[in-house]
Amino acid sequence: MDQILLYDTTLRDGLQREGMSMSVDEQIAIARHLAEFGMHYIEAGFPMSNPKHAQMFEALEHVDLGECRIAAFGMTRRKGMAVEDDPAMIGLAECYAPVITVVGKTWDLHIEKVIKVDREENLSMIRDTVEYLVGRGKEVVYDAEHFFDAFAAHPDYAVECLRTAHEAGAHWVVPCDTNGATLPHDVAAAVRRVRQDLPDARIGIHTHNDAECGVATSLAAVHEGARMVQGTVNGYGERCGNANLVSIIPSLTFKMGFRTVGDDRMRELTALSHFVAETANLQPDNWAAYVGQNAFAHKGGMHVAGMLADERTFEHIDPTAVGNDRHMVVSELSGRGTIISKAGDMGLDLSESPEVPRILTRLKELEHEGYHFEVADASFELLIERELGVFSPLFELESFRVVTEQRADGGVETEATVKLRHDGERLVAIGEGNGPVNALDRALRNALGGRVPELDEIELVNFKVRILDEGKGTGATTRVLLDSSDGHHTWGAIGVSQNVIEASWAALIDSIAYGVRRIARERAGAS
Ligand SMILES: [Zn+2]
Repeated sequence: MDQILLYDTTLRDGLQREGMSMSVDEQIAIARHLAEFGMHYIEAGFPMSNPKHAQMFEALEHVDLGECRIAAFGMTRRKGMAVEDDPAMIGLAECYAPVITVVGKTWDLHIEKVIKVDREENLSMIRDTVEYLVGRGKEVVYDAEHFFDAFAAHPDYAVECLRTAHEAGAHWVVPCDTNGATLPHDVAAAVRRVRQDLPDARIGIHTHNDAECGVATSLAAVHEGARMVQGTVNGYGERCGNANLVSIIPSLTFKMGFRTVGDDRMRELTALSHFVAETANLQPDNWAAYVGQNAFAHKGGMHVAGMLADERTFEHIDPTAVGNDRHMVVSELSGRGTIISKAGDMGLDLSESPEVPRILTRLKELEHEGYHFEVADASFELLIERELGVFSPLFELESFRVVTEQRADGGVETEATVKLRHDGERLVAIGEGNGPVNALDRALRNALGGRVPELDEIELVNFKVRILDEGKGTGATTRVLLDSSDGHHTWGAIGVSQNVIEASWAALIDSIAYGVRRIARERAGAS
Protein backbone atom coordinates (compact mmCIF):
# COMPACT_ATOMS: atom_id res chain seq x y z
CA MET A 1 0.00 0.00 0.00
CA ASP A 2 1.51 3.33 -1.04
CA GLN A 3 2.26 6.01 1.53
CA ILE A 4 0.91 9.51 0.90
CA LEU A 5 3.00 12.26 2.47
CA LEU A 6 0.93 14.93 4.17
CA TYR A 7 2.13 18.48 3.82
CA ASP A 8 0.36 20.96 6.05
CA THR A 9 0.38 24.64 5.16
CA THR A 10 -2.12 25.90 7.76
CA LEU A 11 0.54 28.16 9.23
CA ARG A 12 1.41 29.72 5.86
CA ASP A 13 -1.39 29.49 3.28
CA GLY A 14 -4.07 28.88 5.96
CA LEU A 15 -3.25 32.12 7.74
CA GLN A 16 -4.14 34.02 4.55
CA ARG A 17 -7.80 33.45 5.43
CA GLU A 18 -9.74 36.69 5.80
CA GLY A 19 -9.98 37.65 9.47
CA MET A 20 -7.62 34.90 10.68
CA SER A 21 -5.02 35.92 13.18
CA MET A 22 -2.97 33.97 15.70
CA SER A 23 -0.21 34.75 18.13
CA VAL A 24 3.18 33.11 17.82
CA ASP A 25 2.40 30.86 20.82
CA GLU A 26 -0.86 29.76 19.23
CA GLN A 27 0.90 28.92 16.00
CA ILE A 28 3.47 26.86 17.87
CA ALA A 29 0.72 25.00 19.72
CA ILE A 30 -0.81 24.18 16.33
CA ALA A 31 2.54 23.01 14.97
CA ARG A 32 2.89 20.63 17.94
CA HIS A 33 -0.58 19.22 17.31
CA LEU A 34 0.11 18.80 13.61
CA ALA A 35 3.32 16.93 14.35
CA GLU A 36 1.68 14.73 16.99
CA PHE A 37 -1.08 13.94 14.56
CA GLY A 38 1.49 12.69 12.07
CA MET A 39 1.75 15.35 9.38
CA HIS A 40 4.97 14.64 7.51
CA TYR A 41 5.74 18.25 6.63
CA ILE A 42 4.75 21.57 8.18
CA GLU A 43 5.21 24.65 6.06
CA ALA A 44 6.18 27.40 8.45
CA GLY A 45 6.25 30.45 6.21
CA PHE A 46 9.12 32.45 4.93
CA PRO A 47 11.80 33.43 7.45
CA MET A 48 12.48 36.74 5.74
CA SER A 49 8.87 37.81 5.31
CA ASN A 50 6.85 39.65 7.95
CA PRO A 51 8.26 39.79 11.51
CA LYS A 52 5.48 37.68 12.99
CA HIS A 53 6.30 34.85 10.60
CA ALA A 54 9.99 35.19 11.29
CA GLN A 55 9.37 34.94 15.05
CA MET A 56 7.29 31.78 14.67
CA PHE A 57 9.77 30.30 12.24
CA GLU A 58 12.68 30.92 14.60
CA ALA A 59 10.80 29.61 17.64
CA LEU A 60 9.97 26.36 15.84
CA GLU A 61 13.66 25.54 15.55
CA HIS A 62 13.66 24.71 19.26
CA VAL A 63 10.37 22.82 19.39
CA ASP A 64 10.56 19.04 19.29
CA LEU A 65 8.35 18.02 16.37
CA GLY A 66 9.56 14.42 16.18
CA GLU A 67 9.74 13.06 12.65
CA CYS A 68 7.86 15.98 11.16
CA ARG A 69 9.94 18.11 8.78
CA ILE A 70 9.71 21.89 8.73
CA ALA A 71 9.53 23.52 5.32
CA ALA A 72 10.52 27.13 4.72
CA PHE A 73 8.73 28.79 1.86
CA GLY A 74 10.28 31.09 -0.72
CA MET A 75 10.24 32.19 -4.33
CA THR A 76 12.65 31.50 -7.16
CA ARG A 77 15.64 33.82 -7.41
CA ARG A 78 15.14 37.37 -8.59
CA LYS A 79 15.26 37.97 -12.32
CA GLY A 80 18.58 39.12 -13.72
CA MET A 81 20.50 38.28 -10.55
CA ALA A 82 22.91 35.43 -9.80
CA VAL A 83 21.30 33.04 -7.37
CA GLU A 84 24.18 33.20 -4.87
CA ASP A 85 23.87 37.01 -4.73
CA ASP A 86 20.16 36.97 -3.94
CA PRO A 87 19.71 37.63 -0.19
CA ALA A 88 16.43 35.70 -0.11
CA MET A 89 18.19 32.63 -1.56
CA ILE A 90 20.99 32.89 0.97
CA GLY A 91 18.39 33.21 3.73
CA LEU A 92 16.66 30.03 2.58
CA ALA A 93 19.92 28.14 2.17
CA GLU A 94 21.14 29.11 5.62
CA CYS A 95 17.93 28.65 7.61
CA TYR A 96 17.60 25.57 9.83
CA ALA A 97 14.63 24.11 7.90
CA PRO A 98 15.62 20.86 6.18
CA VAL A 99 12.98 21.41 3.49
CA ILE A 100 12.62 24.41 1.21
CA THR A 101 9.48 24.85 -0.81
CA VAL A 102 10.14 27.05 -3.79
CA VAL A 103 7.29 28.58 -5.68
CA GLY A 104 7.84 29.59 -9.27
CA LYS A 105 5.85 30.83 -12.23
CA THR A 106 4.38 28.66 -14.97
CA TRP A 107 1.68 30.72 -16.62
CA ASP A 108 2.37 33.23 -19.42
CA LEU A 109 -0.17 35.61 -17.98
CA HIS A 110 2.02 35.95 -14.90
CA ILE A 111 5.38 35.54 -16.57
CA GLU A 112 4.66 38.35 -19.06
CA LYS A 113 2.41 40.63 -17.05
CA VAL A 114 3.54 40.22 -13.44
CA ILE A 115 7.22 39.35 -13.31
CA LYS A 116 7.94 40.55 -16.87
CA VAL A 117 10.56 38.01 -17.89
CA ASP A 118 10.73 35.84 -20.99
CA ARG A 119 10.00 32.13 -20.88
CA GLU A 120 13.70 31.17 -21.01
CA GLU A 121 14.68 33.40 -18.10
CA ASN A 122 11.78 31.94 -16.10
CA LEU A 123 13.18 28.44 -16.70
CA SER A 124 16.66 29.62 -15.65
CA MET A 125 15.22 31.10 -12.46
CA ILE A 126 13.65 27.73 -11.65
CA ARG A 127 16.81 25.77 -12.55
CA ASP A 128 19.26 28.03 -10.68
CA THR A 129 17.12 28.16 -7.54
CA VAL A 130 16.54 24.42 -7.29
CA GLU A 131 20.16 23.53 -8.10
CA TYR A 132 21.46 26.01 -5.55
CA LEU A 133 19.22 24.82 -2.71
CA VAL A 134 19.74 21.12 -3.49
CA GLY A 135 23.49 21.88 -3.55
CA ARG A 136 23.16 23.33 -0.06
CA GLY A 137 21.74 20.03 1.19
CA LYS A 138 18.07 20.94 1.26
CA GLU A 139 15.13 18.75 0.37
CA VAL A 140 13.48 20.86 -2.32
CA VAL A 141 9.77 20.88 -3.03
CA TYR A 142 9.02 22.77 -6.23
CA ASP A 143 5.53 24.34 -6.24
CA ALA A 144 4.48 25.32 -9.78
CA GLU A 145 2.14 28.23 -9.25
CA HIS A 146 -0.95 28.44 -11.51
CA PHE A 147 0.11 25.16 -13.11
CA PHE A 148 -3.37 24.10 -14.20
CA ASP A 149 -4.26 27.44 -15.79
CA ALA A 150 -0.90 27.34 -17.54
CA PHE A 151 -1.52 23.77 -18.65
CA ALA A 152 -4.86 24.78 -20.18
CA ALA A 153 -3.18 27.64 -22.07
CA HIS A 154 0.09 25.99 -23.12
CA PRO A 155 0.57 22.43 -21.83
CA ASP A 156 4.06 21.89 -23.22
CA TYR A 157 5.59 24.90 -21.49
CA ALA A 158 3.77 24.12 -18.23
CA VAL A 159 5.29 20.63 -18.21
CA GLU A 160 8.64 22.13 -19.25
CA CYS A 161 8.68 24.19 -16.02
CA LEU A 162 8.22 21.03 -13.94
CA ARG A 163 10.81 19.16 -16.02
CA THR A 164 13.31 21.95 -15.37
CA ALA A 165 12.77 21.73 -11.62
CA HIS A 166 12.94 17.93 -11.72
CA GLU A 167 16.15 17.84 -13.76
CA ALA A 168 17.70 20.46 -11.47
CA GLY A 169 17.24 17.97 -8.64
CA ALA A 170 13.92 18.93 -7.00
CA HIS A 171 12.77 16.10 -4.72
CA TRP A 172 9.15 16.88 -5.43
CA VAL A 173 7.36 18.68 -8.25
CA VAL A 174 4.00 20.04 -7.22
CA PRO A 175 1.50 21.37 -9.75
CA CYS A 176 -0.62 23.98 -7.96
CA ASP A 177 -4.18 25.03 -8.62
CA THR A 178 -3.49 28.48 -7.24
CA ASN A 179 -6.71 30.05 -8.52
CA GLY A 180 -8.57 27.01 -7.23
CA ALA A 181 -11.19 26.63 -9.92
CA THR A 182 -9.88 23.71 -11.99
CA LEU A 183 -12.28 20.78 -12.00
CA PRO A 184 -11.26 17.26 -10.94
CA HIS A 185 -11.21 15.70 -14.43
CA ASP A 186 -8.95 18.48 -15.73
CA VAL A 187 -6.58 18.10 -12.78
CA ALA A 188 -6.53 14.34 -13.40
CA ALA A 189 -5.71 14.80 -17.10
CA ALA A 190 -2.89 17.26 -16.37
CA VAL A 191 -1.32 15.11 -13.63
CA ARG A 192 -1.54 12.07 -15.94
CA ARG A 193 0.43 13.98 -18.58
CA VAL A 194 3.05 15.07 -15.99
CA ARG A 195 3.46 11.49 -14.91
CA GLN A 196 3.87 10.30 -18.50
CA ASP A 197 6.44 12.97 -19.31
CA LEU A 198 8.34 12.76 -16.01
CA PRO A 199 8.01 9.10 -15.03
CA ASP A 200 10.67 9.21 -12.32
CA ALA A 201 9.59 12.49 -10.69
CA ARG A 202 7.84 12.43 -7.33
CA ILE A 203 4.64 14.43 -7.78
CA GLY A 204 2.66 16.39 -5.20
CA ILE A 205 -0.56 18.39 -5.40
CA HIS A 206 -1.58 21.78 -4.00
CA THR A 207 -5.10 23.02 -4.70
CA HIS A 208 -7.55 25.66 -3.56
CA ASN A 209 -11.30 25.52 -3.19
CA ASP A 210 -12.73 28.27 -5.40
CA ALA A 211 -14.94 25.84 -7.33
CA GLU A 212 -15.52 23.83 -4.13
CA CYS A 213 -13.38 21.04 -5.54
CA GLY A 214 -10.24 21.43 -3.38
CA VAL A 215 -10.69 18.00 -1.82
CA ALA A 216 -11.86 16.40 -5.07
CA THR A 217 -8.97 17.75 -7.14
CA SER A 218 -6.45 16.56 -4.53
CA LEU A 219 -7.93 13.06 -4.54
CA ALA A 220 -8.01 13.06 -8.36
CA ALA A 221 -4.31 13.96 -8.45
CA VAL A 222 -3.44 11.16 -6.03
CA HIS A 223 -5.48 8.78 -8.15
CA GLU A 224 -3.20 9.75 -11.06
CA GLY A 225 -0.02 9.20 -9.10
CA ALA A 226 0.62 12.23 -6.86
CA ARG A 227 2.13 11.07 -3.56
CA MET A 228 2.29 14.30 -1.55
CA VAL A 229 -0.81 16.33 -0.67
CA GLN A 230 -0.53 19.94 0.43
CA GLY A 231 -3.47 21.44 2.28
CA THR A 232 -4.68 23.01 5.50
CA VAL A 233 -6.64 21.94 8.55
CA ASN A 234 -10.35 22.62 7.99
CA GLY A 235 -9.51 24.02 4.56
CA TYR A 236 -8.61 27.41 5.99
CA GLY A 237 -7.05 29.70 3.42
CA GLU A 238 -7.48 32.75 1.26
CA ARG A 239 -10.84 33.34 -0.49
CA CYS A 240 -12.76 30.03 -0.35
CA GLY A 241 -9.88 28.24 1.28
CA ASN A 242 -7.29 25.56 0.56
CA ALA A 243 -7.78 21.85 0.03
CA ASN A 244 -9.07 20.52 3.37
CA LEU A 245 -6.69 17.91 4.78
CA VAL A 246 -9.26 16.93 7.41
CA SER A 247 -11.47 15.52 4.64
CA ILE A 248 -8.66 14.37 2.37
CA ILE A 249 -6.82 12.23 4.93
CA PRO A 250 -9.67 9.87 5.84
CA SER A 251 -10.76 9.63 2.20
CA LEU A 252 -7.24 8.61 1.15
CA THR A 253 -7.14 6.07 3.95
CA PHE A 254 -10.62 4.58 4.09
CA LYS A 255 -11.79 5.04 0.52
CA MET A 256 -8.61 4.74 -1.54
CA GLY A 257 -6.56 2.39 0.62
CA PHE A 258 -3.45 4.56 1.01
CA ARG A 259 -1.27 4.77 4.09
CA THR A 260 -1.41 8.24 5.69
CA VAL A 261 -1.25 8.28 9.50
CA GLY A 262 -1.74 5.27 11.76
CA ASP A 263 -5.11 4.21 13.16
CA ASP A 264 -4.37 5.69 16.59
CA ARG A 265 -3.56 9.06 15.12
CA MET A 266 -6.55 8.96 12.80
CA ARG A 267 -8.74 8.81 15.91
CA GLU A 268 -7.32 12.25 16.80
CA LEU A 269 -8.61 13.80 13.56
CA THR A 270 -11.75 15.34 15.09
CA ALA A 271 -9.75 16.68 18.02
CA LEU A 272 -7.18 18.20 15.64
CA SER A 273 -9.87 19.89 13.58
CA HIS A 274 -11.55 21.34 16.67
CA PHE A 275 -8.27 22.38 18.27
CA VAL A 276 -7.24 24.40 15.23
CA ALA A 277 -10.71 25.98 14.94
CA GLU A 278 -10.76 26.93 18.62
CA THR A 279 -7.22 28.28 18.51
CA ALA A 280 -8.12 30.40 15.50
CA ASN A 281 -11.24 31.49 17.43
CA LEU A 282 -13.49 30.11 14.71
CA GLN A 283 -16.62 28.10 15.34
CA PRO A 284 -16.04 24.43 14.33
CA ASP A 285 -18.25 23.60 11.36
CA ASN A 286 -21.00 21.29 12.65
CA TRP A 287 -21.63 20.04 9.13
CA ALA A 288 -18.01 19.25 8.24
CA ALA A 289 -17.49 15.85 6.61
CA TYR A 290 -16.03 13.20 8.96
CA VAL A 291 -15.45 15.53 11.94
CA GLY A 292 -18.57 17.72 12.19
CA GLN A 293 -20.92 17.28 15.10
CA ASN A 294 -23.62 16.31 12.60
CA ALA A 295 -21.45 14.13 10.36
CA PHE A 296 -22.94 11.03 11.97
CA ALA A 297 -26.19 12.48 13.28
CA HIS A 298 -29.29 10.45 12.57
CA LYS A 299 -32.63 12.11 12.70
CA GLY A 300 -35.42 10.30 10.88
CA GLY A 301 -37.17 7.55 12.85
CA MET A 302 -36.53 5.08 10.05
CA HIS A 303 -32.83 5.99 9.90
CA VAL A 304 -32.53 5.47 13.61
CA ALA A 305 -34.29 2.12 13.41
CA GLY A 306 -31.91 1.14 10.60
CA MET A 307 -28.89 2.32 12.55
CA LEU A 308 -29.88 0.28 15.55
CA ALA A 309 -30.16 -2.81 13.34
CA ASP A 310 -26.83 -2.26 11.56
CA GLU A 311 -24.67 0.89 11.51
CA ARG A 312 -23.72 0.37 7.89
CA THR A 313 -27.29 1.14 6.81
CA PHE A 314 -26.72 4.90 7.16
CA GLU A 315 -23.03 5.38 8.00
CA HIS A 316 -20.18 5.40 5.48
CA ILE A 317 -17.49 4.73 8.10
CA ASP A 318 -17.34 4.00 11.82
CA PRO A 319 -17.35 7.51 13.37
CA THR A 320 -14.91 6.47 16.09
CA ALA A 321 -12.26 5.80 13.42
CA VAL A 322 -11.87 9.58 13.06
CA GLY A 323 -12.60 10.32 16.71
CA ASN A 324 -16.16 11.43 16.09
CA ASP A 325 -19.37 10.14 17.72
CA ARG A 326 -22.62 8.82 16.50
CA HIS A 327 -25.33 11.28 17.40
CA MET A 328 -29.02 10.46 17.53
CA VAL A 329 -30.93 13.62 16.82
CA VAL A 330 -34.15 13.98 18.70
CA SER A 331 -37.00 15.53 16.82
CA GLU A 332 -40.64 15.18 15.96
CA LEU A 333 -39.64 12.66 13.35
CA SER A 334 -38.04 10.37 15.83
CA GLY A 335 -39.69 7.40 17.35
CA ARG A 336 -39.15 4.92 20.14
CA GLY A 337 -35.75 3.89 18.79
CA THR A 338 -34.17 7.30 19.37
CA ILE A 339 -35.44 7.57 22.91
CA ILE A 340 -34.31 4.06 23.81
CA SER A 341 -30.91 4.67 22.28
CA LYS A 342 -30.46 8.08 23.94
CA ALA A 343 -31.49 6.65 27.29
CA GLY A 344 -29.00 3.83 26.69
CA ASP A 345 -26.22 6.44 26.35
CA MET A 346 -27.31 7.75 29.75
CA GLY A 347 -27.08 4.27 31.25
CA LEU A 348 -30.87 3.75 31.36
CA ASP A 349 -32.34 0.66 29.74
CA LEU A 350 -35.78 1.62 28.43
CA SER A 351 -36.07 -1.13 25.84
CA GLU A 352 -38.85 -2.85 27.78
CA SER A 353 -40.12 0.26 29.52
CA PRO A 354 -43.81 1.16 29.42
CA GLU A 355 -42.75 4.81 29.92
CA VAL A 356 -41.51 5.30 26.35
CA PRO A 357 -44.89 6.17 24.74
CA ARG A 358 -45.55 8.72 27.49
CA ILE A 359 -42.14 10.32 27.02
CA LEU A 360 -42.80 10.50 23.28
CA THR A 361 -46.12 12.25 23.88
CA ARG A 362 -44.50 14.72 26.26
CA LEU A 363 -41.73 15.35 23.74
CA LYS A 364 -44.25 16.15 21.03
CA GLU A 365 -46.14 18.54 23.32
CA LEU A 366 -42.93 20.37 24.12
CA GLU A 367 -41.91 20.53 20.47
CA HIS A 368 -45.28 22.04 19.74
CA GLU A 369 -44.56 24.73 22.34
CA GLY A 370 -41.32 25.56 20.59
CA TYR A 371 -38.79 23.31 22.29
CA HIS A 372 -36.26 21.98 19.87
CA PHE A 373 -34.08 19.22 21.26
CA GLU A 374 -31.90 18.65 18.21
CA VAL A 375 -29.23 20.93 19.58
CA ALA A 376 -30.23 20.63 23.23
CA ASP A 377 -28.98 17.20 24.22
CA ALA A 378 -28.54 18.25 27.85
CA SER A 379 -32.15 19.36 28.21
CA PHE A 380 -33.31 16.21 26.48
CA GLU A 381 -31.50 13.94 28.93
CA LEU A 382 -32.92 15.89 31.84
CA LEU A 383 -36.38 15.68 30.28
CA ILE A 384 -36.20 11.88 30.20
CA GLU A 385 -35.01 11.81 33.79
CA ARG A 386 -37.79 14.12 34.92
CA GLU A 387 -40.38 12.01 33.14
CA LEU A 388 -38.99 8.87 34.75
CA GLY A 389 -38.92 10.55 38.14
CA VAL A 390 -35.18 9.93 38.61
CA PHE A 391 -34.03 13.55 38.23
CA SER A 392 -32.39 15.04 41.31
CA PRO A 393 -32.06 18.80 40.99
CA LEU A 394 -28.86 20.57 41.96
CA PHE A 395 -30.84 23.03 44.10
CA GLU A 396 -34.37 24.17 44.80
CA LEU A 397 -35.24 27.64 43.63
CA GLU A 398 -36.98 29.97 46.03
CA SER A 399 -36.90 32.96 43.67
CA PHE A 400 -34.76 35.01 41.35
CA ARG A 401 -34.93 38.63 40.32
CA VAL A 402 -33.20 40.56 37.57
CA VAL A 403 -32.86 44.33 37.42
CA THR A 404 -31.43 46.18 34.46
CA GLU A 405 -30.47 49.79 34.91
CA GLN A 406 -29.83 52.17 32.06
CA ARG A 407 -28.06 55.27 33.24
CA ALA A 408 -28.20 58.72 31.70
CA ASP A 409 -24.53 58.42 30.65
CA GLY A 410 -25.43 55.43 28.46
CA GLY A 411 -24.04 52.76 30.79
CA VAL A 412 -26.17 49.66 31.28
CA GLU A 413 -25.83 47.30 34.21
CA THR A 414 -27.72 44.17 35.08
CA GLU A 415 -27.92 42.75 38.56
CA ALA A 416 -29.47 39.42 39.48
CA THR A 417 -30.43 38.08 42.89
CA VAL A 418 -31.03 34.37 43.45
CA LYS A 419 -32.48 32.69 46.53
CA LEU A 420 -32.22 28.94 46.65
CA ARG A 421 -31.85 25.86 48.82
CA HIS A 422 -28.95 23.48 48.50
CA ASP A 423 -28.37 20.55 50.88
CA GLY A 424 -30.88 21.99 53.36
CA GLU A 425 -29.14 25.36 53.43
CA ARG A 426 -30.71 28.61 52.26
CA LEU A 427 -28.39 30.54 49.96
CA VAL A 428 -28.84 34.13 48.76
CA ALA A 429 -26.45 35.78 46.34
CA ILE A 430 -26.25 38.54 43.79
CA GLY A 431 -24.35 38.71 40.52
CA GLU A 432 -23.62 41.55 38.14
CA GLY A 433 -23.24 41.11 34.40
CA ASN A 434 -23.52 42.67 31.00
CA GLY A 435 -26.98 41.15 30.53
CA PRO A 436 -29.55 39.02 32.35
CA VAL A 437 -28.06 35.61 31.52
CA ASN A 438 -24.60 36.71 32.50
CA ALA A 439 -25.87 38.23 35.76
CA LEU A 440 -27.97 35.15 36.64
CA ASP A 441 -25.05 32.87 35.87
CA ARG A 442 -22.78 34.86 38.19
CA ALA A 443 -25.39 35.01 40.94
CA LEU A 444 -25.83 31.22 40.77
CA ARG A 445 -22.09 30.68 40.87
CA ASN A 446 -21.78 33.08 43.80
CA ALA A 447 -24.51 31.22 45.66
CA LEU A 448 -23.17 27.73 44.99
CA GLY A 449 -19.47 28.59 44.76
CA GLY A 450 -17.30 26.28 46.84
CA ARG A 451 -20.19 23.87 47.41
CA VAL A 452 -20.22 22.69 43.78
CA PRO A 453 -16.60 22.75 42.59
CA GLU A 454 -17.54 21.40 39.12
CA LEU A 455 -19.08 24.81 38.37
CA ASP A 456 -15.60 26.29 37.95
CA GLU A 457 -15.03 24.11 34.90
CA ILE A 458 -18.22 25.07 33.11
CA GLU A 459 -18.18 27.97 30.73
CA LEU A 460 -21.04 29.38 28.69
CA VAL A 461 -19.80 29.46 25.12
CA ASN A 462 -22.78 30.38 23.00
CA PHE A 463 -26.14 31.99 23.58
CA LYS A 464 -28.82 32.29 20.92
CA VAL A 465 -32.26 33.83 21.17
CA ARG A 466 -34.96 33.34 18.60
CA ILE A 467 -38.49 34.72 18.46
CA LEU A 468 -40.79 31.86 17.48
CA ASP A 469 -44.06 33.46 16.36
CA GLU A 470 -42.81 36.73 15.01
CA GLY A 471 -46.26 37.90 14.01
CA LYS A 472 -47.14 38.46 17.67
CA GLY A 473 -44.42 41.07 18.23
CA THR A 474 -43.52 41.55 21.87
CA GLY A 475 -46.09 38.94 22.92
CA ALA A 476 -44.29 36.23 21.00
CA THR A 477 -42.64 33.13 22.41
CA THR A 478 -38.87 33.28 22.88
CA ARG A 479 -36.56 30.33 22.55
CA VAL A 480 -33.13 30.45 24.14
CA LEU A 481 -30.39 28.01 23.18
CA LEU A 482 -27.35 27.95 25.36
CA ASP A 483 -24.15 25.98 24.78
CA SER A 484 -21.75 25.29 27.62
CA SER A 485 -18.39 23.59 27.64
CA ASP A 486 -15.93 22.03 30.07
CA GLY A 487 -13.10 22.52 27.59
CA HIS A 488 -13.52 18.99 26.15
CA HIS A 489 -17.21 18.60 25.48
CA THR A 490 -19.95 21.02 24.56
CA TRP A 491 -23.59 20.48 25.43
CA GLY A 492 -26.73 22.37 24.57
CA ALA A 493 -29.69 23.38 26.70
CA ILE A 494 -32.94 25.06 25.80
CA GLY A 495 -35.58 27.22 27.43
CA VAL A 496 -38.86 28.43 25.93
CA SER A 497 -41.12 31.07 27.39
CA GLN A 498 -42.99 34.26 26.54
CA ASN A 499 -40.52 35.91 28.88
CA VAL A 500 -36.93 36.00 27.62
CA ILE A 501 -35.48 35.97 31.13
CA GLU A 502 -37.50 32.96 32.15
CA ALA A 503 -36.46 31.13 28.97
CA SER A 504 -32.84 32.04 29.67
CA TRP A 505 -33.09 30.84 33.27
CA ALA A 506 -34.56 27.49 32.19
CA ALA A 507 -31.74 26.94 29.70
CA LEU A 508 -29.14 28.08 32.21
CA ILE A 509 -30.15 25.73 35.00
CA ASP A 510 -30.42 22.75 32.63
CA SER A 511 -27.01 23.56 31.26
CA ILE A 512 -25.44 23.78 34.70
CA ALA A 513 -27.26 20.76 36.17
CA TYR A 514 -26.21 18.63 33.24
CA GLY A 515 -22.63 19.92 33.21
CA VAL A 516 -22.07 19.46 36.94
CA ARG A 517 -23.32 15.90 36.76
CA ARG A 518 -21.30 15.09 33.67
CA ILE A 519 -18.07 16.38 35.18
CA ALA A 520 -18.73 14.60 38.48
CA ARG A 521 -19.35 11.32 36.63
CA GLU A 522 -16.22 11.68 34.55
CA ARG A 523 -14.17 12.29 37.67
CA ALA A 524 -15.69 9.29 39.37
CA GLY A 525 -14.93 7.21 36.27
CA ALA A 526 -11.36 8.47 36.03
CA SER A 527 -10.37 7.90 39.62
ZN1 LIG B 1 -1.90 28.04 -2.09
